[in-house]
Amino acid sequence: MQTAVRKIVIVGGGTAGWMAAAALIKALGSHAYDITLIESEDIGTVGVGEATIPPILEYNYFLGLDEDEFIRETNATFKLGIQFQDWRHLGHSYFHPFGLFGTEIDGFSFPHYYFRHYHKAGLSAVDIGKYNAETEAALQGRFGRVRREPGKPPVNYAFQFDAALYARYLRKYAEKRGVVRQEGKIVTVNQHPETGFITSVQMEKGRVIEGDLFIDCSGFRGLLIEQTLKTGYTDWSHWLPMNRAVAVPCERAGELLPYTRATAREAGWQWRIPLQHRTGNGYVFCDEFISEDAACETLLGRLDGKALADPKILRFVTGRRNLAWNKNVVALGLASGFLEPLESTSIHLVQSGVFRFLALFPRHGFNPHIVNEYNREVELSYNNIKDFIIAHYKVTERDDTPFWRHVRQMAIPESLQNRLDVFRASCQTLWRDSELFREVSWVAILTGQGLVPEDYHPAADAMDDDDLRLHLGRWRSAVLDRVKGLPTHEDFIRRNCAS
Ligand code: FAD
Repeated sequence: MQTAVRKIVIVGGGTAGWMAAAALIKALGSHAYDITLIESEDIGTVGVGEATIPPILEYNYFLGLDEDEFIRETNATFKLGIQFQDWRHLGHSYFHPFGLFGTEIDGFSFPHYYFRHYHKAGLSAVDIGKYNAETEAALQGRFGRVRREPGKPPVNYAFQFDAALYARYLRKYAEKRGVVRQEGKIVTVNQHPETGFITSVQMEKGRVIEGDLFIDCSGFRGLLIEQTLKTGYTDWSHWLPMNRAVAVPCERAGELLPYTRATAREAGWQWRIPLQHRTGNGYVFCDEFISEDAACETLLGRLDGKALADPKILRFVTGRRNLAWNKNVVALGLASGFLEPLESTSIHLVQSGVFRFLALFPRHGFNPHIVNEYNREVELSYNNIKDFIIAHYKVTERDDTPFWRHVRQMAIPESLQNRLDVFRASCQTLWRDSELFREVSWVAILTGQGLVPEDYHPAADAMDDDDLRLHLGRWRSAVLDRVKGLPTHEDFIRRNCAS
């Protein structure tokens, strides 16, 4: 439909709504567009979503945020990756870092050289994390912003923050630049009688808010994209069986760790996210294997400190909306789908959705080529992330509970099976530029879960044994040198950006 877009209505003021509002007003300004955000304090937000991944730095940079102020305002901490405990088997631990393992050699990636060394030296355990600075810094509880320099390992990071404070911070940003916030509940959604396009929403108190374009950030309910447009949902629970989470914050105890911890439990896994003022915790589970009451009890029995609220149960179905953009509605956040929180990808999907949408912004109306392209790209992102998350469950040695026996044996997508087979045979992870999770992530997760490649690229054999040993030794020293001078995570925050 060719109608010029002038009035943009964002429905929902959770993380997705305010991220969209801040980015749209920054990109488009307020002189040519009216941007309104509607949220209801009575309905509230999902209240979780505290861990992020490094691309969030691009979002913050785009907005022009001052990082120290952002950390202060959201009680944030730095995140170097995720520590996985008890996933391969009870008592086992590994780290999924954000940066690279080692450095490229003659155009071939480090893991090939590492696995040559592993096989030739007859190592009994994969310790490739020794060659990654984020892993070392995380294990030592250190953090620093280091300059990128050739020959020195980088220290990549993301953040862990209080989701409510983050939304409030972005709200301040967006309102200052011209986004108009409307408080209240939407009770009716009006559509054009012929096209089905949404024309306006009506508030409980009677006010009607018209729009040319609607961004649905209304959370799991998908008020516009699903309840009104009946877009449909692809259910992935046969591959990602988690359907519940219980969440509870607790008092901080001990050292402020610069990473998220994911501990496998009898019917799922538990997150531990350290913030400056408290620790976020949750048990993500499948209710076919444990009851909600038992999951609450498990979580409450495994907190570091005193619980600061009653546990909150969240119910969801893993999957994605069939179309992220339907007619004049673009869904972002939980309204567009949910893959479970294991690799902290939801906030990233909001960000990448907003950037994609801005790149394809429909200033003259809704060209089907543009809409299809957006939907194609969103579908691809969800698919890639989906396979990566499934791998955490499928590749395991655990068989000690019905849940772990189930996920070990479940059928998986062909695309993932192919990737596992190729990795086992050749150490090739098959990642493509369009994918969020790259070689380091696949190598960390697959080897961490117990899948060791049986072979590596023959180019690695071109280096002689002494040179390879020297190279490994040098890179290990570079990692240790990088981390040695860094302050503890807690000191870094206190000195630079404490709340
Ligand atoms: P919500 O927060 O639910 O916001 C919905 C908004 O819509 C609210 O403002 C509400 O008031 C409004 N609304 C709804 N209906 C109406 C109506 N009728 N009228 C007016 N307003 C309305 N993501 C990560 O990246 N990292 C994580 O670590 C992470 N952990 C998670 C853990 C769990 C258990 C879950 C469930 C999610 C997690 N997520 C995580 C996802 C993350 O929480 C969400 O992607 C993010 O918070 C965005 O949520 P949202 O804004 O889409 O929805």
